[in-house]
Amino acid sequence: MTRQIINRRQFVGSALAGTVAVLASRANAATGVAVGHKQVLALSDGHFNMPVDMFLGTPESLRAKLGNPAQIAANTYAYRTEERTFLFDAGAGRSDFITKAFPTASKLPEDLQLAGIASEDVTDIVITHMHPDHVGGLAAGNRIAFPNARIHIAASEWNFWNAQGFDTAAPDAMRPMVAAVQEISRVVEHNVVLHNGSADFGDGVNVIPAPGHTPGHTAVVLDGGREQLVLVGDLTVHEDVHFANPAYGWALDIDGDQAVKSRKTLLDMISTDGLIMGAAHVSRPGVGRVERNGSGFRFLPL
Ligand SMILES: [Zn+2]
Repeated sequence: MTRQIINRRQFVGSALAGTVAVLASRANAATGVAVGHKQVLALSDGHFNMPVDMFLGTPESLRAKLGNPAQIAANTYAYRTEERTFLFDAGAGRSDFITKAFPTASKLPEDLQLAGIASEDVTDIVITHMHPDHVGGLAAGNRIAFPNARIHIAASEWNFWNAQGFDTAAPDAMRPMVAAVQEISRVVEHNVVLHNGSADFGDGVNVIPAPGHTPGHTAVVLDGGREQLVLVGDLTVHEDVHFANPAYGWALDIDGDQAVKSRKTLLDMISTDGLIMGAAHVSRPGVGRVERNGSGFRFLPL
C-alpha cells in the first residue's frame, strides 16, 4: 500500500472535497464520497439499539455518555464502474430474526432505490463477515435479493458459520443467530465465491484479513489512485468507543484478543498512511479520517 503523508492543509482540502453529494434530504440518504478519482456511495441501513454493557471493559462514564441502549449506526457502501456495481455488505434484511430484534434497521433497500441502484444491477457483493446485520439483506424471504451478484466471502468465515451441527452445538444465546445465518446461506450459496481472506476482485477492490470479531472477518481496501479507502465491518462498533481505546471489547467478538490486535493494526495503518475509513457502525455519513490521540485514536467524520 502506498504510504501517504498528509499535512493539515491537504487534510482539510480533501475533507471538504470528500463529501460531494447527498442524494436526498432525509437523514440516512446516500452520500457520495470521493476516493481519489473514484466515487463511493455511503448508504444507510438505519440503526440498532444495543445494551451498552456489550461494550466490554468500558468505564461507567463512557456508558452514561452512550446511553442505554446505545444507538449504533448501520452503514453499507456501493461503488460503480461502467460494467460493475459493487456492494460492500448487504444490510440486515427483513427476516423475522431481524425485524423482531432490530425494528429500526433494514433501510438499505430504500437507500439503494434513492441512489438509482436496482437489485439486478449489483454484480459483486463483498461481505466483511457473516453476522446477520451484514448478510441478512442477501436474501428476501427464500429468494436471493441480488440475483446477478457474485457474493465474495472468506472461506474461513463461510465454513465457521456453516459447519455441520453448529446450529445445535453453538451456545444457547448464539443459536438463533446461527440459524438465521445458515438459513441465509442456503438461499444464496450458489452465488457465493469463496476467497482465502486476501483477494483482488479487480477495479481496485481488494480485501485484507482482519480476524477476531469473527474468524474470517475482512476489511475492504478500495484503491482510488492517489487516495485509498478502507471499509471495515465490526472492527469498530462505535466511534466513541473503539477508537479512543482499541482495547475495549465487544460482546459479539468471537476471539476478543485477536479482535483487539486487528483493531490496533488497522487503525494504526489507516492513521499513519492517511487513508479514508468507512465503518459499518460509525455515525453518518459513515466515512472519515483517523488520527492518533494519546494512546488511542480519534475518528474525524468527513
Ligand atoms: Zn455489525
